[in-house]
Amino acid sequence: MATEYDLVILGGGTGGYVAAIRASQLNMKVAIVEKSELGGTCLHRGCIPSKALLRSAEVYQQTKKAEIFGVEVNDPTLNFAKVQQRKNAIIEQLHKGVQGLMKKGKIDVYQGFGRILGPSIFSPMPGTISVEYENGNENDMLLPKNVLIATGSQPNTLPGLDFDGEYIISSNEALEMEELPNSMLIVGGGVIGIEWASMLNDFGVDVTVLEYQKQILPTEDKDVAKEMKKQLKKRGVNIVTGADVQADTLEKDNGVAIEAMVGDKKERFETDKLLVSVGRKANIQNIGLENTDIQISNHTIDTNEFYQTKESHIYAIGDVIGGMQLAHVASHEGITAVEHMAGDYTQKIDYKSISSCIYASPEAASVGLTEVQAKDEGYELVIGKFPFKAVGKALVYGETDGFVKIITDKKTQDLLGVHMIGPQVTDMISEAGLAKVLDATAWEISQTIHPHPSLSEVIGEAALAVDGIQIHG
Ligand code: NAD
Repeated sequence: MATEYDLVILGGGTGGYVAAIRASQLNMKVAIVEKSELGGTCLHRGCIPSKALLRSAEVYQQTKKAEIFGVEVNDPTLNFAKVQQRKNAIIEQLHKGVQGLMKKGKIDVYQGFGRILGPSIFSPMPGTISVEYENGNENDMLLPKNVLIATGSQPNTLPGLDFDGEYIISSNEALEMEELPNSMLIVGGGVIGIEWASMLNDFGVDVTVLEYQKQILPTEDKDVAKEMKKQLKKRGVNIVTGADVQADTLEKDNGVAIEAMVGDKKERFETDKLLVSVGRKANIQNIGLENTDIQISNHTIDTNEFYQTKESHIYAIGDVIGGMQLAHVASHEGITAVEHMAGDYTQKIDYKSISSCIYASPEAASVGLTEVQAKDEGYELVIGKFPFKAVGKALVYGETDGFVKIITDKKTQDLLGVHMIGPQVTDMISEAGLAKVLDATAWEISQTIHPHPSLSEVIGEAALAVDGIQIHG
C-alpha cells in the first residue's frame, strides 16, 4: 500500500522544511523524508553552529580588549567545552522549533532514506518514493502528485586529501572538535575557509590559509577581499594566495605536513590539523535519478526558473541545483517551487537582489555585481565608497575598519552592486537588498534619512559619494 500525498519532499533542511510549511499553508497534504535530522546542514553542520562558535570567539576577543572601553577584566580564559555546549544548546532549541513547526503544519516526517522509483505498480510515472530505514523496517511507499528534491550538499575535498576525521577534516568535523588544535592549515580561502580562519585566530589557534586563486574570497568584490586579507593578516593569520597544494607530499604523523607550489617556489607547511574547504558537492547519489529523465550538468540537477526538472512534476531546489549555495536561497527557491506547483501566483527569483554574508571578523556582505563583473557585463560605472572610520557610531562601537562600496550604472543610475566590510554589515546589507528589490537608485538611498548616530550612516554617505557629495569625507 502506498500513502498518497500532494507533495513529498526529499530532505528536511532549510530548503525542504520551509517548502513544506508553504505547501501546508496552500492546503497540500505534504510529507518530508529526512535521513538524518530536520534542519539539515544549516542547523546542524553549517550556518547556525558556525555562527555560534564565531560569536564565542568574538566575545572572547572583545573581553580581552575590554580595557579599551574602560572595563578591566583579569586575564579572561576560554573554556572550549562550554563554547561547544552553548552551540549545541542553540541547535537543540532551534531543532525543537522546527519539529514544532512540522506538527503545526500537519506535515508528516519520515525519518529514513528516500529514493525516487521509476514507473511501477503504484504509478505509470516516475516519482513514487520508497523510504528505506536503517533498522531494517519494511520500506514505506509514498505516492505523491509532486516531488521536491532538496537533498543539499556535502563538503568536497581534493584528490589525495580524503577526510579522516582526525588530521584531515571538513567543516563538519571542525564543528565537533572537543579541543582546539594549536595550529590549523586551511586549504581553500572561500567563505568557509575565511570564517574558520577568523574564528580559530580569535580562539588563539595558529592559522594558515592556502588559496589557489590570486585573491581570497574569489567571488567577492576585489576591494572587499583585499580589506579582509589585510585585516586577517594584521591579526596574525598567515594567508598564502596562488598556492597549489601538492597532495602527493602529504605526511600524517602526530600532525600533518604538506607542500604547496607558490609561484615557482615550493613551500612546506606543518600543522596539527588540515581543514579542507574547497566547495561543496550536491547530494544526488542514490536518490533514484537514474529512474527518471532528470538531467544533470556539472554534478547538479538542471531545472527551469520555477525549479521544475525535465520531469515536470519533480522539482529541485537549493544546493542540489548549484548556483548560490545559501540557506536563504534554498528556502526561497522552495517557496517559489511550491507556489508554482500549486498554481499560485509566484515570481521568479532575481538572484542579483540576494544578499550574501561572510561572518568573519570583520564581517563582509554583498548584493549584486562586483566591480569586475559589472565591467565584464559592459557597464560604465560610477562608484561611491565611504569608510566606517568617518562615522561616529563606528568609533563608539570600537570598530572603524572597512567601508561600503556602491556600484551604479552611469547611463541609467541603476544600482548594480553593493559591497560592505566592517561592523554589523551582515545585518545592514538588507537595506541594499531592499533597494535592489525596489529598483532604487543611489540617490534614493541617500534620500533615506539614516539615524544618527548609527552604523547605517555609512550607507547613506556611500550613496551620496556616488554623486561626489558625501558630507563627512
Ligand atoms: P567556496 O566556493 O566559497 O570557496 C572554495 C575556495 O577554495 C575558493 O576560494 C577556491 O578558489 C578554493 N580552492 C579550490 N581548489 C583549491 C585548491 N586545490 N587549493 C586551494 N584552494 C582551492 O566554498 P566553501 O568555502 O567550501 O563553501 C561552500 C559553500 O557553502 C559556498 O557556496 C559558500 O557560499 C557556502 N557557505 C556560505 C556561508 C555563508 O553564507 N556565510 C558560510 C559557509 C559556507
